[in-house]
Order: sequence, then structure tokens, then C-alpha cells
Amino acid sequence: MEEITNKTHVLVLPFPVQGHINPMIQFSKRLVARGVKVTLLTIYSIGKNLPKESSSINIVSFPYDESAPDNTDKSLEWFSTLVSKNLGAIVAKLSDTEYPVKVLVFDSFASWAIDLAHQLGLKGAAFFTQSCSLSAIYYHMDPETSEIPLDGSVVSLPSLPLLEKEDLPTFIYETDSYPALRALVFSQNNNFKKADWLFFNTFDALEKEVVDWIKSKCSIKTIGPTIPSMYLDKRLKEDREYGLSLFKPNDEICMNWLNSREIGSVVYVSFGSLASLGEQQMEELATGLMTSNCYFLWVVRATEENKLPEEFMSKAKEKGLVVNWCPQLDVLAHRAVGCFFTHCGWNSTLEALSLGVPMVAMPHWSDQPPNAKFISDVWQTGIRVKAGENGVVSRDEIARSIREVMEEDKGVMLKENAIKWKKLAKEAVDGGGSSDKNIEEFLSNL
Ligand code: UDP
Repeated sequence: MEEITNKTHVLVLPFPVQGHINPMIQFSKRLVARGVKVTLLTIYSIGKNLPKESSSINIVSFPYDESAPDNTDKSLEWFSTLVSKNLGAIVAKLSDTEYPVKVLVFDSFASWAIDLAHQLGLKGAAFFTQSCSLSAIYYHMDPETSEIPLDGSVVSLPSLPLLEKEDLPTFIYETDSYPALRALVFSQNNNFKKADWLFFNTFDALEKEVVDWIKSKCSIKTIGPTIPSMYLDKRLKEDREYGLSLFKPNDEICMNWLNSREIGSVVYVSFGSLASLGEQQMEELATGLMTSNCYFLWVVRATEENKLPEEFMSKAKEKGLVVNWCPQLDVLAHRAVGCFFTHCGWNSTLEALSLGVPMVAMPHWSDQPPNAKFISDVWQTGIRVKAGENGVVSRDEIARSIREVMEEDKGVMLKENAIKWKKLAKEAVDGGGSSDKNIEEFLSNL
């Protein structure tokens, strides 16, 4: 068994965005720690800034392609053409060594990769970087195969809580925006039929009902949460950070600022790497943060900065720190942080759960609404803001929600629940935990 494992070579293909690269790198680290050789494939513009090897993961870039488009929808097709054109040669080169490639672990968004893997004689494992519940919702509400029941006020689906329209992924009802991305999201369902393995970045206890339900239909393996080991089980001593940041974090400024704040006094605010708020929403948020009267650390990406209200930076100086990017795990783990005001991206959600931080949920699009539903109603580690009729969340609602999590009785209950999930997240990846066992089982069947 040891001999087989030592010669095993796994190719890992994430979608080239931060929220997909992070969990697939973390999964790779867990394989490397078991003696498996892992090669991560990425696009030239990301790979050129990386060392050839990171955390013992071999990194290979696709050749430079000057036709890379800016447009999200077009870039999806571009990526699939790039991979299709080059994967064969890369596999051939890597296989001409004592570590021939056996399996391609591909981002579930790239469902077309399973055919490529099989054509090249490899097994194929789809890696879902989002929740199991989301896949179940897409499974039941696939526009190709089912009638989407949006006429009633709530949707009832097996193993899921009752969902109102505002709890559903936006791709279900926003049919006009990002058509290619929408098609790709539903095409992930193909993986259920074709892939040799299905990995989910979640853990059994977190989504128990839905994991059991999907397992009754097909075999899946939960392998998360994919948080660096030193924040959870601490078995991989070198694994302290994700290691590949597409943005440059202001580490020192953030940590120094947090170090001078009292325990639980800071609201950490971030909308991840992609979400873009409208100008009016930025103004409401800025004013809501100020009137909450709490200290805040707000990540406003450089491309969003021009939407901050005039003179906000000078007015906010006393209460807040605004940075373009931060070391989010260190921030969430800091004793000064009492609440995470989040867009509910799946990584951010798992990070807050794994580090025991209560949340204010302000979902933006895609899978974020169902994540917010689970945060507030199922795991009960946060509350969700309500938008007004114009779709904007008001300054009063923002300030009230923050105070509810930071100060009042409800805040204490949310914190207790958050600590409970932190413990369960650690147990899942620790030796003998459900996710740990699933990784072992995968390797023993290669
Ligand atoms: N992140 C970070 N620093 C920041 C903001 C975000 O390191 O200032 C990381 C965060 O820890 C998470 C990822 O970026 O791992 C964002 O992924 P998520 O799924 O939450 O949201 P997305 O960016 O995909 O919308």
C-alpha cells in the first residue's frame, strides 16, 4: 500500500479564481502529507508569480495565451479550450517519469474535464468548492430536467430546509445575467453520472441531512473544511496559510491595528474576491459601520475604492481601518474580532465556522443566499440582513444587525453555536474524523 501511495501522482485543476484555488491547494496539501505527488495546473498569469513548487506541490502553468478575455462568460470558454489543447502534452510529459499521473482532480465547474481525463486514460474526480446543499438545490432545480417551482412562497426539497426565493442561488431565477456561467453551474450535475469520485469541501456533521440524501443517490466524499491545518487539527506543522494569494495583503497594518483593540470589539467586513457592491450600497454600508459604533476592519478591493463616500476615509480614521486585502484567516482568528460581516462566499463561511466567529450575513449572488440561510437558520451562527424594496440594505439595518451580534443576548447564543461548529470542524479533519477517513479511502482505492 505504501509503495503504491508513494508512486501515486495526482493532477489538480482548479478554476483560476481565489475562492477555487484555495480549497484545492489545501486538499493537495493533505495528499502530499500522505506521500502522494501532486501537480497543480494553473493559467500562465497566475503561475508566473508562483514558485515552481509551493508546500511541496509541483506547479505547472499552461502556456501563455494572449487571447485571455476580461469578460467572465467568455473566459469560461477560453479556459476550457486552453485546457483541452494542452492537457494531453502535460500529462504525457509528467507520465514519462517514475510518477505517472493516475487521476485528475478537477474543479466541478470544469465538468468537461472528466471526458478529457478518461480520453487520456486517467480517472477523474470532481471537486466541489461549494456546499453540498447547493448541489442538491441545483440537482432538483436544473432547468433542463425539472420545472422550477418559483410560483409559491416557499420551495420544499428533500433534506433541505424550506427555502424562500431569497434563499435560492441567484442562478435559479436570474436567467439573463451571465448565461455561460449559469449553464456551467448546472452542467456540474453531469459529474454525478460520469466522475469516478465526487469530493465536497464540507464535512458530514455540517450538512448531515443533505450529505445523507446525496449519498443515497451516489457516492460522495466530504473532505473539508479545507482550512490550513494549523487553524484546525495542527497535524501539518508547515500548513499555516493558503500560500497563493492573487491579491497582496496588508498583513502588518492589519495585525498591528487589531493588536491594539480589545477582545471581541472589532467587526471584520469583507465581500471576498469578486463581489462588487453598487455605489448606494457602499454608502449605506459605510454609514452603517460608523453608526454601529463598533471598531471595524473593512476590506475594500482597489477596484472598489472609488465607490467609498467622499471623506469617508478621514471620518472613519478613529473607528475603522480600510485595506485592499488582508490575511483573512489571521484576522478571523484574532481575539479582537467579534463578528464577521460577510458576503457568505463558501470559503469565508467555512473559515468563520472553523474559527468560531459569529456572522452578519449579507449575501450578494450565486450560492451566497443559501449559505446565508444556513448561517442564520440551520447552524445559527449569525443573522442575515434584510434588503429594502430597492434591493439595498439600509444603514440602520446594517448598524442594528452588527449590534445584535456584537452586544446583545443573541450575540452570546451565536458565539456559543460558533464554538460548537469550530469543534466539529476540527474533529472532521483530525485523525479518524469523517473527512480524514474519506481521503484515506480515496488513496487506498487508487
Ligand atoms: N480572502 C483573503 N483576504 C481578504 C478577503 C478574502 O484572504 O481580504 C480570502 C478568504 O480567506 C477566502 C477567499 O479569499 O479564502 C474568498 O473566498 P470566498 O469563497 O469566501 O469568496 P469569493 O471570493 O469566491 O466570492
